[in-house]
Amino acid sequence: MHQKAVIIGTGPAGLTAAIYLARASLSPLVIEGIQPGGQLTTTTEVDNFPGFPDGITGPELMDNMRKQALRFGANILSGRVTQVDLSKRPFTLFVEGGDEITADSVIISTGATAKKLGITGEIENIGKGVSTCATCDGFFFRNKKIIVVGGGDTAMEEAQFLTRFASEVRVVHRRAQLKASKIMQDHARSNPKIAWSLNQTPLEVTAGPNGVNGLKVLNNETGETELLEADGIFLAIGHQPNTAFLNGQLPTDEQGYLYVQPGTSQTAIPGVFACGDVQDRIYRQAITSAGSGCMAALDCERFLSEHDINE
Ligand code: NDP
Repeated sequence: MHQKAVIIGTGPAGLTAAIYLARASLSPLVIEGIQPGGQLTTTTEVDNFPGFPDGITGPELMDNMRKQALRFGANILSGRVTQVDLSKRPFTLFVEGGDEITADSVIISTGATAKKLGITGEIENIGKGVSTCATCDGFFFRNKKIIVVGGGDTAMEEAQFLTRFASEVRVVHRRAQLKASKIMQDHARSNPKIAWSLNQTPLEVTAGPNGVNGLKVLNNETGETELLEADGIFLAIGHQPNTAFLNGQLPTDEQGYLYVQPGTSQTAIPGVFACGDVQDRIYRQAITSAGSGCMAALDCERFLSEHDINE
């Protein structure tokens, strides 16, 4: 199957790019990925996306974007791109299940994935008490004890959210100082259901037959270890851009974010563009992501037209 433009990923960046390319009659193929709709599908209210004075839920916002892309003629394919060959044009994309797609241009909008601590007991207890998504799993911890690991805005936000369900939420952070913005820190600190274990490094997730029962931590001040009891452990320690399928064919910064030429969506390979969280280490908002998706579509459209690949 040959395509003029393929968009990989269906968060705000990918779907905005799809809306623009579809409206330019370029009938983009959008490959949905393992989390259709991206990270916003795991949030509740989105109050800062312009145009929704009363807020909108993340899943609803993404569903609207998807419908809008379909209305103008985008094609959406379920599946995950496992490998690409960007060494020559047309580029080749390999989709799980065997589909092989060639494309004159590619927009990468694969987003980022929650980071893990890399400690004993963590991975094996995902789904048994360890979670990376408070809005997805908080409900299961009604009247239970929860630990949120991290000191950034996400940790503050998730801790606040989880107090709706939990009997206690304890924030465990490896430093004495939080990284979160002052307003979000103040908000969390004024919540009586949130307890604090600062300057403590997580060492091990402990579990029994019924799942997670605690987090062993190292007190960085005293050098002592302690077992903090918890039924749920929510990781909120940042994200890793999803670029593994590129197998190093495009340059990234030291954290793995795709390099784009400043002020554009152009990657190091002409005809390959990147937008959204996969190339944004700073802003990472739905609206900046959507804005960068628009930029990628316009850059892509210009590229196709310069190469006489039109509707
Ligand atoms: P951040 O990178 O800001 O924070 C990650 C936190 O996790 C840091 O405190 C960091 O510790 C800690 N951490 C990282 N790796 C480890 C590890 N291996 N072990 C223990 N702790 C670790 O990520 P966030 O997801 O919090 O935020 C990302 C961006 O999104 C930020 O720009 C933030 O402002 C924004 N955001 C905004 C929101 C809003 O405005 N409503 C809500 C949520 C996020 P250390 O401090 O030691 O580096």
